[in-house]
Amino acid sequence: MGMFDTIMLDRSYECVKCKNMITSTQTKAFDKTLDEYKTKDCVDHVEDIRIIKEELFCDKCHEFQPDPVYLVVNRGILTGIADSLQQARALLDDLNTEKLMLWYHDLYRRYIDQKNDTHKHRRFLYDLREWWGEQLYKEINKDKLFFLFYSHHFKGAISPIESVERFLTDTKMRRTLNQLWEEGHEELLIYHPEQIEPGEEEWFADVYQDDMNERCHLNWTWSVTSKKLHESDDEASEKSLDWSIIVDDPYSEKAICDAVLKWLRDRNFNFKVKMISVEDSRRTGMLKGLEEQLANLKKEECISHEKLMEELEVLDLETKADQIDHLKNKSKVFYYKGFHGSLVPCVETGILLGKIEGINEIIPYEGKTVSECENKFREAVSKLIPKPVISEP
Ligand SMILES: [Zn+2]
Repeated sequence: MGMFDTIMLDRSYECVKCKNMITSTQTKAFDKTLDEYKTKDCVDHVEDIRIIKEELFCDKCHEFQPDPVYLVVNRGILTGIADSLQQARALLDDLNTEKLMLWYHDLYRRYIDQKNDTHKHRRFLYDLREWWGEQLYKEINKDKLFFLFYSHHFKGAISPIESVERFLTDTKMRRTLNQLWEEGHEELLIYHPEQIEPGEEEWFADVYQDDMNERCHLNWTWSVTSKKLHESDDEASEKSLDWSIIVDDPYSEKAICDAVLKWLRDRNFNFKVKMISVEDSRRTGMLKGLEEQLANLKKEECISHEKLMEELEVLDLETKADQIDHLKNKSKVFYYKGFHGSLVPCVETGILLGKIEGINEIIPYEGKTVSECENKFREAVSKLIPKPVISEP
């Protein structure tokens, strides 16, 4: 039905043209169901033994690479990805019982993890249904609820959605901590942006851990609150978020480190914890959001200023256009003693021409400037006026 499958490569290959790292390749050799495979996965039928040559393609610069890779399939298992045919043949011959035993144990561990994960999700769903479906949150005797394994995700939540979000965040945090440990991170660098006086009794800090924030898309990683502050907040004591930590001690960096360390130990993580300054951090989560907002705000200000100038210019042009339209009626440019005078430019000669309007007689005038023409118009009107006065009686 699909068109290809994706094979995750054992190592990254650098694109010869743009230096982009190529981490996967597509193949039409298997079921073409848009699946993603990596070494040790079953890609084919159990009787299949073959070597498949695939060209590497750079997604970034759309360039095929000069050197191909060889997918080695032994008894339907992708046993490795080789750089040469010779290496591929060696890999094919190298599939022995010892190797398969190790892989089997590895697979079994993955299977157990998956099973636990499924169990955890199922149990959460049952608890969720119980809590919200049976409206347990209305129970006055809260002690009755301890049989719900995940009740800490429900207490204080305003909706099932909030419970689901809390559960997912908690799951993601644990998974990421496992990943970090497997990747060899033994120490977690933490920081908090609040300025707190050492020895302060009522305090709270949003503790940031950059890797956790980035990988779990968190605003911050932990909230650490002093018991004194916590007890003074009725709403907070109702809500027991998995990542909020309450401590007895007055504020110190050590109090925060110890709190995070204890949180980790309670969940069987053996990381060390070290406090760093905000300046030494990557400023992730909400801090990053705030910085971006600030940058956008500055950008918006610039745009609105430019826009304003643009709008002013348009307005100015529109006013001028109105003026021109108004001036198109050139028959009533001048007025003097009951007479109107016109004015038009002569493009060929570059001079201005006009005549007294509204009378049968043709009395023209011309000049190089508007004021010269106006003077001539007035002179002409003055000469004209005596005539009707004399002829009237
Ligand atoms: Zn490239």
